[in-house]
Amino acid sequence: MAATTTEAEAGSDFRERFGRNFERAAQAPGRVNLIGEHTDYNGGFVLPTAIPQKTRAEVARRSDRRVRAASAEADRGRISEFVLGEETRRGAWIDYIQGVTAELARRGLAVPGFDLWIQSAVPLGSGLSSSAALEVSVLRALRDLAGFPLDDVTLALVGQRAENDLVGAPVGIMDQMASSLADVGVALFLDTRSLASERIPIPRGAGLLVVDSGVRHDHASGDYRRRRAECEDAARRLGVRELRDLTVERRPDLERLPEPLRRRARHVVTENERVIEASAALRRSDLPLLGRLFDASHESQRDDFEVSVPAVDAIVAAARAEPGVFGARLTGGGFGGSVVVLAGADGDADRGPRIVERAARAGAPAARLVVVSGEKG
Ligand code: ADP
Ligand code: MG
Repeated sequence: MAATTTEAEAGSDFRERFGRNFERAAQAPGRVNLIGEHTDYNGGFVLPTAIPQKTRAEVARRSDRRVRAASAEADRGRISEFVLGEETRRGAWIDYIQGVTAELARRGLAVPGFDLWIQSAVPLGSGLSSSAALEVSVLRALRDLAGFPLDDVTLALVGQRAENDLVGAPVGIMDQMASSLADVGVALFLDTRSLASERIPIPRGAGLLVVDSGVRHDHASGDYRRRRAECEDAARRLGVRELRDLTVERRPDLERLPEPLRRRARHVVTENERVIEASAALRRSDLPLLGRLFDASHESQRDDFEVSVPAVDAIVAAARAEPGVFGARLTGGGFGGSVVVLAGADGDADRGPRIVERAARAGAPAARLVVVSGEKG
């Protein structure tokens, strides 16, 4: 939603479409992963935080079994409809909503018919998880409307299942957990196997910038699947359930893997260690160490996991050339996407634009600043 949208205007948007007022409203943020890339589907660790941009869902109950939904960000605000119990994939944004209602019903919850209006400031498809923000905001609004006994972790699991089943995207649990449990200024250390998590405050002196490369590869999902398969292959050859289970003593076994499996596995194993070190660095407010871990993570993604692209590398280099920057790395699945930059919260408002400008001259012409957060500390 635009920063200028007031509550009253938001209410009238719902009224304009559905001819009445909404009954409940809820929000959920997008997220950026600070560190821990391609570890989630290997049973490992991640460290996302919420971004200031949010998605807002407004709902009102209906007396029939219909869901009528519209989004300011999709289909020019036109209403899509489906009947509860008849959810089927259409290859459209409404699948996220159908996925949510189908999964709630599968869990035995009596979902009422409802009207839904969505507005979002989270950029769609930039790797900032607009999809999880959509699922979690809608689930929060429905939980409130119908009084569902869902805790925040279960809410995240419902969102993930919605996306895995109805949408057909084989995503891990990070995005929904981050949207459901993290906040701006709070990172979420998450064990993706046990779902144990810890909220770690981000020190006041830390500033975060996210720069979108503007590069999206059509083959990204195919490459993502190939990386997953390579990790599974490596785990099988090493005789562990998931790469997460490769203990320190067994690290030398990596050397016996054929390439590229050796490098793929090495990324996952070292990245998991970096997430643990980064969490410790955050707790101690050790920003220089956190920055070095960002840098090492980027190198590992670029050289071992091979998920970076030249435009992303150009943004990382431009960020590192800036005074006051502690580190920078590719965030999200890769093959394009965004860069997260850790800098001092020194109130230097020109830093982001300078990085974008330098990156644009060095091979990232579509670079764009999408998130700036952190207070002057
Ligand atoms: P990301 O989650 O990184 O933004 P995804 O491809 O996972 O990218 O999700 C983007 C998709 O989620 C969009 O193409 C759209 O179908 C759906 N979506 C996300 N936010 C909204 C929204 N506010 N309104 C309608 N659809 C949305
Ligand atoms: Mg997504």
